[in-house]
Amino acid sequence: MRNPVTRVTNLFNTLKLRYTMPLRLELSIVDHCNLNCKGCTHFCPIAPEHFMPVSEVEEALSHLSSIDNEMFESIYLLGGEPLLHANITTICHLTRQYFPKATIKILTNGLKVANLDDRFWETCRQSRIIISATIYPVNLDYAKIETICHDNGVKYEVFHQPKNGRFFTKHKIDDINPGNKHLNFLRCHQIGCLTLRDGKIYPCATSAYANLINDQFGRNFEHQPADYIAVPDIKKTSQLQRLKLRPTPFCRYCTALEATEWEQSRRQPDEWL
Ligand code: SF4
Ligand code: SF4
Repeated sequence: MRNPVTRVTNLFNTLKLRYTMPLRLELSIVDHCNLNCKGCTHFCPIAPEHFMPVSEVEEALSHLSSIDNEMFESIYLLGGEPLLHANITTICHLTRQYFPKATIKILTNGLKVANLDDRFWETCRQSRIIISATIYPVNLDYAKIETICHDNGVKYEVFHQPKNGRFFTKHKIDDINPGNKHLNFLRCHQIGCLTLRDGKIYPCATSAYANLINDQFGRNFEHQPADYIAVPDIKKTSQLQRLKLRPTPFCRYCTALEATEWEQSRRQPDEWL
């Protein structure tokens, strides 16, 4: 067990980081994925095929940009696997148009990168999009992906790589014996992941996509009005700052974090519950 001084110091550093971290918006533009990892925090293995309509992206971005087109330091286009979206180039252009100074990244598992066409690469160059890959233990040549990006004049980075065989921190959720929202929020790893879904902004994907668990496993994770902000109701950047920094009622469900190795999902409840 770590000594109390180290624990207090770590807690202080975590809180400091949370309060100083600039705002980031996450657009999960595709619900499903072509990899299906066990315990995926966006619940992709149990997600029906769904692509975020371009109109929804534009409506949200234009409204938020009209408040302050520098409110987000970064915007992530992710999923699911964002490169499955047939309108990915339009979404990239719109994101750059409405947020000219933001760092924009496509977070990908890399599986589709070798098959992307010239129009995609041209868009990434024009819109200054970064390809940000997570390195999964699958049969994929990530060095080749890096080369493809560089050959097309597009910046590449590794977003996440497993350490010591541990890949994910699973966020287990519990609607039967929920916990204390403040304590759960204190140890949460998803703070700062403001997620757009169905015209609302949630503090994280776990909350935004919880209905997938309800639908698949007959559970009863409920949202309250304080769990999200409808995009038209956002009038000031500070509303999103508050959503990022304070526990929401849904946080009571996030009862456990568990390091886990990578495996293909079997779509079983114990991967998330
Ligand atoms: S690649 Fe990413 S989005 Fe896809 S299932 Fe795995 S963790 Fe989820
Ligand atoms: S609901 Fe709260 S505790 Fe749970 S993942 Fe989201 S921010 Fe973290």
